[in-house]
Amino acid sequence: MIAKMKVAIVGYPNVGKSSLVNRLTQTRDAVTHETAGITRDRRELPTEWNGREFILIDTGGVDLNDEDPLAVSIQDQARAALTDSEVAVFVVDARAGYRAGDDEIADILRRWGKPVLVAANKIDHPNDVALVHEFHALGLGSPLPVSATQGLGTGDLLDAIVESLPPEPEEEEEDGPPPIRLALIGRPNVGKSSLLNAFLGFERVIVSEFAGTTRDPIDTPFEFEGRRMILVDTAGIRRAAKVKESVEYYTSLRSQRAAERADVALVVCDAADGVTTQDLRIADLAMKAGCATALVLNKWDLTSGDEFDLERERQKVLRKLRLRPKTLTASAKTGRHLQRILVEAVSLADRRAHRVATPELNRFLAEILELRQTPAKQGHRLKMLYIAQIDRNPPRFNISVNSRNRVTREYAFFVENRLRERYALDGIPLIIDFAERSSRRERAA
Ligand code: GDP
Ligand code: GDP
Repeated sequence: MIAKMKVAIVGYPNVGKSSLVNRLTQTRDAVTHETAGITRDRRELPTEWNGREFILIDTGGVDLNDEDPLAVSIQDQARAALTDSEVAVFVVDARAGYRAGDDEIADILRRWGKPVLVAANKIDHPNDVALVHEFHALGLGSPLPVSATQGLGTGDLLDAIVESLPPEPEEEEEDGPPPIRLALIGRPNVGKSSLLNAFLGFERVIVSEFAGTTRDPIDTPFEFEGRRMILVDTAGIRRAAKVKESVEYYTSLRSQRAAERADVALVVCDAADGVTTQDLRIADLAMKAGCATALVLNKWDLTSGDEFDLERERQKVLRKLRLRPKTLTASAKTGRHLQRILVEAVSLADRRAHRVATPELNRFLAEILELRQTPAKQGHRLKMLYIAQIDRNPPRFNISVNSRNRVTREYAFFVENRLRERYALDGIPLIIDFAERSSRRERAA
């Protein structure tokens, strides 16, 4: 397991460090307990925010007037907490105001070289927010107003902490990103096995074994432009090419099975037929299985470019498929666009794995609120308060709203489409949860 990253909470005694740590953790589902072996003046509390887990180090509890010779100086205490932390929260008492001692800690923090957030605590009322300004002088960026006792601003502080943490080292990082699992699905005879063989025979494609990734003999690993890829369910494709069964439900069943094991699905269609109703159904299946998707009009060599109304087919696909996938053309026979298709498959996999930062998403939310008024029911208007991406592969977003039943289907689609446009998520399945301002956040924010 990866060791969780640490966040040091530093500052003078009585500014409210312990209160703030309690506020930031006790409202989480995480267990709050004192880690064994930790001295009374250093608590390590695991917590979680927006799916990110980290540990808050509370350096509170040191009394300046403590006669105990073992009591360490505040600066030493802060330095110790900083050594193995990734982010520091410098807590100051906004009611007491800026004091000389704050500078000494600020000095240590400025030289530390990692992200530091200033939390101006004890701003118990929104009217007092202006008290934060004098702490700009610390030279550590904009202070965030919080009240540990009232719980004000703590949601924003947690957001800022999560934003400042370096990306979680992924376990697969040692040997690069995980292989992209690619499925070729579609009706019989459209050219799946021909494309498969063309991909594998392609000069830039190197068929190789990767340890531990291909226990399943029905999958075929290969490498494309330095990226590891696995064509899933290739036995199914080869077998079908021989059997030539055409039972529609069997095609669907096999497509579904392959899609469920894949990250990216290429829905292969026959250019001679255009995009058929069954092709659209198969693409829909792939979306439901969480695959990023593109349509491939194969056998392009059989069409004469001028006669074929590609634009019409593309518009049909955009109209009928919620994912708004791309429609590409190809020929397994002539080799047309084979490389382009694999480049698109890699791009689809990367966009499916992408994470959008919370501040950026909230700017986006503010913009779409400007763009179109939210729906209202019986005079009560929908409010969208906050958005965060809570998962990826495929991307999942959480939007806190004042009332879930004011979200109309139409408005939900509007939000989904804007998200797709803004973050290049065409062809990528998205999940949007409209959550009523959860009790969790209510308590924290
Ligand atoms: P620490 O020594 O920095 O850990 O500070 P504590 O958490 O022990 O808090 C010191 C005092 O400040 C306590 O009496 C708290 O109740 C009070 N306090 C902490 N946070 C707030 C706050 O947001 N508003 C107000 N008004 N008092 C606070
Ligand atoms: P599958 O059932 O989807 O795996 O389809 P196959 O790969 O077995 O192809 C079915 C038929 O279409 C075979 O006769 C192939 O030779 C032919 N075919 C596949 N791709 C192309 C192509 O790009 N152009 C042409 N002209 N024929 C193709």
